[in-house]
Amino acid sequence: MSEARSRVRVLVLQYGLGALDYAVPDGTSLAPGDIVAVPLGPRIITGAVWEADALPAKDVPDAKLRAVAARLDVPPLPAPMRRLIDWVADYYVAPPAAVLRMALSVSSALGGDRTLVEYRPTGTTPARATPQRTAALERIAGRQGTPRDLARWGQVSDAVIRGLVTAGALAKVEVAADAPFPVPDPDFAPPRLEAAQAQAAAALVADVEARAFAPTLLDGVTGSGKTEVYFEAVAAALRAGGQVLVLVPEIALTAPWLDRFAARFGVQPVAWHSDLKANARRRVWRAVGSGDARVLVGARSALFLPFAKLALIVVDEAHESSFKQEEGVHYHARDVAVVRAQLEGIPVILATATPGIETRVQVERGTYKRLDLPARFGGATLPVIRAVDLRHAPPPPGHWLSPPLVAELQVNLEAGAQSLLFLNRRGYAPLTLCRACGERVNCPNCTAWMVEHRLTRRLLCHHCGFACPPPPECPACHAPGSLVPCGPGVERIAEEVARLFPAARVMVVTSDTISSPARAAALVAAVEAREIDILIGTQMLTKGYHFPGLTLVGVVDADLGLAGGDLRAGERSFQQIAQAAGRAGRGAEPGRVLLQTHQPDARLMRALVAYDAEGFYAAETEQRRDVGAPPFGRWAALVVSSEDEAATIAAARAIGRAAPVLPGLSVLGPAPAPLAMLRGRHRHRLLVQARRGLALQDVLRDWLGGVELPSSVRVTVDVDPYNF
Ligand code: ADP
Ligand code: ZN
Repeated sequence: MSEARSRVRVLVLQYGLGALDYAVPDGTSLAPGDIVAVPLGPRIITGAVWEADALPAKDVPDAKLRAVAARLDVPPLPAPMRRLIDWVADYYVAPPAAVLRMALSVSSALGGDRTLVEYRPTGTTPARATPQRTAALERIAGRQGTPRDLARWGQVSDAVIRGLVTAGALAKVEVAADAPFPVPDPDFAPPRLEAAQAQAAAALVADVEARAFAPTLLDGVTGSGKTEVYFEAVAAALRAGGQVLVLVPEIALTAPWLDRFAARFGVQPVAWHSDLKANARRRVWRAVGSGDARVLVGARSALFLPFAKLALIVVDEAHESSFKQEEGVHYHARDVAVVRAQLEGIPVILATATPGIETRVQVERGTYKRLDLPARFGGATLPVIRAVDLRHAPPPPGHWLSPPLVAELQVNLEAGAQSLLFLNRRGYAPLTLCRACGERVNCPNCTAWMVEHRLTRRLLCHHCGFACPPPPECPACHAPGSLVPCGPGVERIAEEVARLFPAARVMVVTSDTISSPARAAALVAAVEAREIDILIGTQMLTKGYHFPGLTLVGVVDADLGLAGGDLRAGERSFQQIAQAAGRAGRGAEPGRVLLQTHQPDARLMRALVAYDAEGFYAAETEQRRDVGAPPFGRWAALVVSSEDEAATIAAARAIGRAAPVLPGLSVLGPAPAPLAMLRGRHRHRLLVQARRGLALQDVLRDWLGGVELPSSVRVTVDVDPYNF
């Protein structure tokens, strides 16, 4: 009688396959969480041991079982991490392998070189010591990092750093892949907190010390000093020997945050972002897994790093829509952060001046605690917000800035104060139209207009990235010279400002111009040095910046966000405009905000002007409750897509016909999705609405599992969809 072989169940990085059983080779011991290489068909693939002890034989008899090829020399996935992966796969109806892939950041985190290359100043002055080079070297003095780090610290481009290497002013240093990161010092420079700050900080510190799950909404008006407050919780976690994860919406924008962290804790935190080189990723991944990386700041994917002793999670600017991932596994990082905190048994802080409805409802239900910072730090006052009725004070034809706004800009220029014009539209014009035949220039791959970018002289699709030179004639009727730009983007506003105020120093800030942390740092430096009079930017400019000299904010088109008309439009507009307004008057001088609108009586405008967030949200929340929208009901979007329109429609209908009939469940559609074509794929959508308490995920899995579809058709499940 053959002895039963010891077996493990391994979650493999292969979509469509769940956990597979493998034999444990003699002399090896494997535990749940171990990262392993296993044979699958002719290949060897990576997986993680999911179950190990006393497994009953399943599917494959012992004798036929293939053996694990190797255990990889990386920190294992801790138990809370494995439960998080299971939770995300289950809740978002995603393949477990896809979630595991995020956790392993595969191909970069595993294997590979043992060293990475950094640079540090040599002390020699370069032969060509330009002011830029000298200033950069002064800022870099005493530091060592990757060329990216140095560019960020030096506030220069990567090219300048390369030049300094060539000139011998920076020398290469090899760093072992397991070299430790510097440890932040909780007592390096503690701030003196104001009373409200101290009270909030004390509550957060108590939560960290209690080492239990405790979600908190840190709701403080813009400029109230939320960062200093949650830094105290970070300090408490450090003192207790734990690790901290800080999630930020966009890592390119964190340069000022990193500097504040360094000023408080003496060293930079560890950063996790998509343009880390493979070796650097690997070093971070290991240091997180071993517990040596004490404070890590990153965008949403950092949630899936295998922290060994996580003690606190902070979600900064928790209202931000960029926490919602819209590709691959559709998840919301804010929500997953709360789940991770629950699984780890630790506190989580959601910091924002404009909490969304989901978060507010959690507070009302008593699930989250709420700490308020009702006033700005240092006696600064909130700006006065005023609506400019464009029906009564319209800009001249072909212009976008109304006389009252132009007058205020003039006042600021004369006073030497800084201004910001907010318009959430990149490029020059959102639409190019033929005056002769009415044709609109569309993207060939998407249901979207091509957006003119005059600085780069091309038309660009903001959805798929397709770009082309501006056509010389109308693509439809071939009338020459008949194409005209319609509507404004930030570049067009910059053109108008240049005409109105030729002497003003203007800077356009969008994801096109602020593409890296170094660029963001340079922007901050220029604004702080008062080298800029007027900033013109998209929502990129509204995120957490603190410019004390900025006293005027003009919202060029306050109606823009309401145009789409989806259920979240009001809330999103409110948040965006309130955040933009929140940049004004953060220093000694009070601020003022002008909202250009055609509907000054709309609920949104009245609430913004009166600072009536509570009233606004009460009404919006009521509206959601009435239609059973999240968080009062559970919604999911099923997006069916393929390159063939007929196949897409047929598949969407087949799914619709297979919909289960259940009390508390209704299915809308299929209908063309909001972007009916995206990247060359036709998209149809079904909207599933379920009452709370219905096991929506189980329903979806059963339903979709029972529909046969051609392999060219893809179905994406989006639980708690953002755009509906
Ligand atoms: P918020 O994130 O709430 O909009 P910030 O955290 O950016 O506000 O704080 C606004 C400004 O006030 C920042 O420049 C910050 O450094 C400063 N500040 C806040 N609290 C303190 C404090 N206790 N001591 C010194 N400076 C503070
Ligand atoms: Zn496109």
